[in-house]
Amino acid sequence: MPSSVHTLVVKVGTSTLTAGTPHLNRRRMLEIAQQIVRVREQGVRVALVSSGAMAAGRERIGLNGAKKVSLPEKQMLAAVGQSYLMAIWEQVFGMFDVRVAQVLLTRADLSDRRRYLNARDTLLTILAHGIVPIVNENDAVTTEEIRVGDNDNLSALVANVLSADLLLILSDIEGLFTADPRKDKRAQLISEVTEIDDRIRALAGGSKSGLGVGGMLTKIQAAELATRSGCMTIVAHGGRPDIIVDAANLKPVGTRFLPTVNRIESRKRWILSERTSGAFVADDGAVRALRSGKSLLPVGVREVLGEFERGEFVAVHDLNGREVARGITRYSARDAARIAGRRSDQIEKVLGYSYAPLLIHADDLVVL
Ligand code: GLU
Repeated sequence: MPSSVHTLVVKVGTSTLTAGTPHLNRRRMLEIAQQIVRVREQGVRVALVSSGAMAAGRERIGLNGAKKVSLPEKQMLAAVGQSYLMAIWEQVFGMFDVRVAQVLLTRADLSDRRRYLNARDTLLTILAHGIVPIVNENDAVTTEEIRVGDNDNLSALVANVLSADLLLILSDIEGLFTADPRKDKRAQLISEVTEIDDRIRALAGGSKSGLGVGGMLTKIQAAELATRSGCMTIVAHGGRPDIIVDAANLKPVGTRFLPTVNRIESRKRWILSERTSGAFVADDGAVRALRSGKSLLPVGVREVLGEFERGEFVAVHDLNGREVARGITRYSARDAARIAGRRSDQIEKVLGYSYAPLLIHADDLVVL
């Protein structure tokens, strides 16, 4: 369990945003914004994953009555609703003078290496500027193959991208119960889950709320995904007063799923488990810098070996050809060869663009 939270991803489901009605509930949204602002004031970086586009679309164009809507109709509703949803977020965060940024993602954006890096750099830059990124699935363009499908899983992917230490999933249920609390009076809230096994998955079967997509099952999937990369996950009721503030301060609320690995360890393991497609040959100074926790800069690279694209895994060799580190490259082999040996401030002049002033960021690097 983290001792304090540095990066928090809050996911709010449709049922939380509508407070159980067919309409977006501004007061609820204002409360959420206010809590996020308070948590930010404690120094926590916060990203929001907001559902509710489809519900907002229905509210706007009054398809409220219709039960069966086709996929393109759903996508239309999401397209209508997304801008409306963002307009309300703008407004409620604006009351605290906090700016927001809309980030619409698909599964493909997060599985393709280059797009993953782009999405991550954008999200990190938004956070670095003190802006709250508000993420949703890019419903208008998604087809089955590239859909995440539900924002619970999307929020776990976002937590992963941001190396968050806490994912808070807010819904219309207190957490995971020993039985369905709507049917069984003796059902008890499970406050902590150390391992998501078949028993836990079985408990999650069934529950589904009216307007949203996910039930408890997708929350468990999300928790599994997040905890496996070292991110604690809490499922709690979005209407509980101060829920975001309390969760961010690690007070016991809802059901918490403990990470099964340490975040840094899990990232290292991931980097080490991938095949490398090439190598940078680094001079002694650069190798020393890497060992003291610094990034790999082009100025310290003598040679680029192999063929690779931006976002691929690349080894770092010392001048004797020994592998000393491994990481994710910000530049393709072609670009890297052109900037090798040069100072970072020359990257833009040589290439005509610059993704970053470095080849491998220290966070994306494992020293062997
Ligand atoms: N992206 C969908 C929406 O905003 C929500 C998906 C979900 O609730 O899981 O309407």
